[in-house]
Amino acid sequence: MNEEYTEKHRRLSLEEKFKFSCHKGLSCFNTCCADINIFLTPYDVLRMRRSTGLSSGEFLKRYTIPLLGEEGLPLVVLKMMEDENKSCPFVTQDGCRIYQDRPWSCRMYPVFPVSSKEEEFLIEEKPSCLGFMEHFHGALSDSATIHEVLPFREEKQWTIDEWKKDQGIDIYDKMNESYKEITLHDYFRKGNKLDSGKTRLLYTACYDLNEFRRFLFETRFFDIYDVEKEVIEKIKEDEEELLSFGYRWVRFNLFWEDTLKPKDKALDKLLQAKRQEYLKESM
Ligand code: SF4
Ligand code: SF4
Repeated sequence: MNEEYTEKHRRLSLEEKFKFSCHKGLSCFNTCCADINIFLTPYDVLRMRRSTGLSSGEFLKRYTIPLLGEEGLPLVVLKMMEDENKSCPFVTQDGCRIYQDRPWSCRMYPVFPVSSKEEEFLIEEKPSCLGFMEHFHGALSDSATIHEVLPFREEKQWTIDEWKKDQGIDIYDKMNESYKEITLHDYFRKGNKLDSGKTRLLYTACYDLNEFRRFLFETRFFDIYDVEKEVIEKIKEDEEELLSFGYRWVRFNLFWEDTLKPKDKALDKLLQAKRQEYLKESM
């Protein structure tokens, strides 16, 4: 890990507690919602898009910058505005306007996992962030009233699990875990990279869900693949289910996994033979 990075952070085990309380009334309120790199997971985009009411395509175009990672995996970054502070497009005087659907990293702040296994964390105790109790006194904004501040005077202490629960992170962890299984797949560890077609497929199935749904329902997809009836019904309306199905489609296409089955027996046999060939080659 980058030394400069660890110097500015304190390590935190799962059992250790940290003190933190962020709220309107602190003079630093909103200052951290600017000039930051926020990498968005597919589930972040799903939730943020839902909050804005835009289509996934319009949301991605307006609010994100897509980048390509080394393996050809698409990285999606939240686009900051072009004002003096490079503010987040969702910040308002009253805080985050999509607070209920804010991304995973905004929820986790000020703690970050050291690795994908999440056994140890780093806490960023920036002096400019007044949410840490030792900086609390004398830190109120001019407009804060004593009534706004009093409820926060008790010392709030959290373990990582308590913090995650408070910030509604469980569902994010669950949905992100399935995406991590794709991005950390053995396929990449063995040095494989995605070509542009596969990158596009992954981006559409995981990030551009309106387009993915169109692809499923406006082609002969369900004539070709044997998909459970209840799943087909759910993905018409339920975006979480659609995203989970997107993960299945990606694994089937990228890693030759049997997450889908063609109805045609000859095609199925051909795919199974290809799968065996691929597995043999990649051992
Ligand atoms: S307390 Fe920290 S996280 Fe909260 S607004 Fe201030 S700088 Fe941001
Ligand atoms: S999404 Fe919300 S919480 Fe995250 S940086 Fe933007 S305004 Fe702040």
